[in-house]
Parts: sequence; C-alpha cells; structure tokens
Amino acid sequence: MQTKCFRIASLQQDAAYIQQAAGVIRAGGLVAFPTETVYGLGANALDEQAVKKIFLAKGRPQDNPLIVHISSLEMLSPLVKEVPQKANELMRRYWPGPLTIVMKRTERIPAAISAGLDTVAVRFPSNPIAKALIEASGVPIAAPSANLSGSPSPTTAYHVMQDMDGRIEMVLDGGECEFGVESTVVSIAGDTAHLLRPGAVTAEMLREIYPDLVISKAVLDKLEDGQKAESPGMKYKHYAPKAHVVIVDASAQDFARFVNTCGEDVYVLAYEEEVPGIQKPCITVGYYNNPQTQAHELFKKLRELDEVGATKAYIRAPRQDGMGLAVYNRLLRAAAFEVITLE
Ligand code: AMP
Ligand code: MG
Repeated sequence: MQTKCFRIASLQQDAAYIQQAAGVIRAGGLVAFPTETVYGLGANALDEQAVKKIFLAKGRPQDNPLIVHISSLEMLSPLVKEVPQKANELMRRYWPGPLTIVMKRTERIPAAISAGLDTVAVRFPSNPIAKALIEASGVPIAAPSANLSGSPSPTTAYHVMQDMDGRIEMVLDGGECEFGVESTVVSIAGDTAHLLRPGAVTAEMLREIYPDLVISKAVLDKLEDGQKAESPGMKYKHYAPKAHVVIVDASAQDFARFVNTCGEDVYVLAYEEEVPGIQKPCITVGYYNNPQTQAHELFKKLRELDEVGATKAYIRAPRQDGMGLAVYNRLLRAAAFEVITLE
C-alpha cells in the first residue's frame, strides 16, 4: 500500500485533503492525523472491520482497547449508557482537550474497540485538523497513537511515516503536537473516579471535581504477572527506544557526578539547565522545573536515542507533580521500570 502524506497548512486552503481523508475513513481505511496530544491512527469507530485494521497496522495486542474520538457533545450519547452528573462539569472544563473519559458503553461500540470490557473511552480533541476530520467523516473515530506497538508515540508526521509508511492509506501532517504526551485517561464508570493514565489534565486539576480521585496502581508501579490491569494499555512495555534507559533518583549534583564517573559509553537525557555539569553526550528533554517542556520533547528525544545509535542512556528522575506525573509515567515504561537511587 502506498501511504499518501498531505501537509495541512490551512483548513480553508487544504479542505480538499480533509475531504479525501474523510472518504478513506468512510470507506473503512486508516488515516493518521494530528491531535493536541500525539498523532492518532484513525478508523471509523462504528465499523468493526476498519477497527481491526488498526490492531494489524500497529501490531497492537487485541486486549488493549481504543479511544473513540468525537467532534461534538451530540456524538457522545449513542456511545455511552449514561453520563454521570459530575461528568458534565468535567466535560465543560476540559473538552475539547487532552482528556479521555471512560464510561459504561452501549451496544453500538464494536467489541474490538472495548477489548471485551463493558466500558468505552471517549475523547473530544481540540486540534482543529482532528475536529475537521471527524466532522467531515460524520462518524466517531477510533484512534490509538499512530506508532508501532511498543515504540514511542509520534509527535510529528515524520515519526508517523517512520512507523506506518506502507501500512496505512494516509497521513495528515499538521506539524508538531502541542502537548507531546497522550491524553489523561480517567474512569468514571465506577463509584469513584480513577486516574488510569496521567496527562496534560493533571491529577490536581481532576481533584477539583473529584476530591477522592484514586490514582491507579499501574500509573507508577509495574503490575505483577497475572495482576488485572484497570487500563490494559498500562501493562505493556511501551515508549521504549532500543537503548537501555535507566532512571536515576538523585539531586542534580549527585546525578552529574554519577554519570561523569561512569566508564561506559552512555548518553544522558538531560534537563537544559543541567547540561553544563555533564561531561557525557547529552540529548536535552526540556527544563527540570517545567514538566510541560519535558512532555513536549520526551518522545522525540527517545526516538533520537535510536538515531544516534545509543545503547545506554541515563536520565535524572523528573518531578512528579502537575504534568511531571505524565512524564514520569512514560519514562518508567521506556526504562522498563529500572530506577536506581543514589544515596
Ligand atoms: P493509546 O490510544 O495508544 O494512547 O492507548 C489508549 C489507552 O486508553 C490505553 O492505555 C488503554 O488501556 C486505555 N483505554 C482505552 N479504553 C479503555 C477502557 N474502556 N477502559 C480502560 N482503559 C481504556
Ligand atoms: Mg499508544
């Protein structure tokens, strides 16, 4: 299959590309498109055969459910059994935006999307190209991140092509994604709200509406074999470059001393302000005190480790407040949960 890639510079001038992409979605094909979080790999969410193609193209395990994307609140009601009262406030504040809400699903959702669960994850993205594509398609779009399963999520159309060229019909190139990490996933299908995956809508923000928010164990801990995952996606090795990544829990000074005296051939994923103290090759990942900048850079820099042929990389543990929790959650998976603590 030849993958077409169209640059969307302006929705007005490039309306014909959006229409072509919508035609592919309606015909049961796959289109990768930009969102404010990462690039998504979309198919008609109401077409089971189309949805199955997503799993094939990505090599995604079938027990890992997909997020359904909508472009208006009217599109929500056929998908979910009921919208709990408080969820209206959640949607009012954070939709459209980088927040996915898990609710009880209706029978309209093909089995492949929910991977056997009685719930569905729904998101209303704010990226204008994503919204225009869903609107023009006239159907909700199921879309996981547009990377091969296991590799870092794509934040540019170039990353999408690295993984998906020849596997899908089309890529819409809308430039670099605003946030750089996937959406926050919160489940309100039970009695208490559970944060399943941290993102740009932070735990602190969610607690303003759900003071008793539970942070799912899988956010920061490795699940043991056989342990049930609340969010199946969190149990897989993820975001991993070929290099062996190790997280080091230490002060900036101790970290610099540690990497500078380690004899091996290593790279350091370094915060901008800490680069001067490090005498090893550095790839920067934003500023320590600004987790948003880390989120924006992280996946791109994990891919860069592969491009430079790095075999081992150290990174100092990031902060865990605000969007730092999302960064740490992704890093733990990139590092297969290997964290060393310097005394
Ligand atoms: P991705 O689209 O690749 O970012 O992955 C979607 C994430 O949403 C995965 O971590 C899934 O486990 C999670 N997810 C999707 N649907 C559900 C659901 N019904 N219940 C819990 N988690 C879900
Ligand atoms: Mg993904």
